[in-house]
Amino acid sequence: MRAATVSGHPACPCCAACGSENILVDAWARWDPDGAGWALETVFEHSYCADCDRPTTVRLKAGEDRPKREGPGR
Ligand SMILES: [Zn+2]
Repeated sequence: MRAATVSGHPACPCCAACGSENILVDAWARWDPDGAGWALETVFEHSYCADCDRPTTVRLKAGEDRPKREGPGR
């Protein structure tokens, strides 16, 4: 699976509304003929935030911008 990058730096997708990384996206997966499993082929724009419980826009944030996890989480 390829990691998304912003300006060459590893980035993680997050919800544009709340910043959560707990998001789901529409995607195609292609079977790896080597039997390694399903490989992500294409990710579509439609996305859904499990924390907002609604469709959202994905924003890519640089790895160093990731917030520290605090409190009990969800
Ligand atoms: Zn959200």
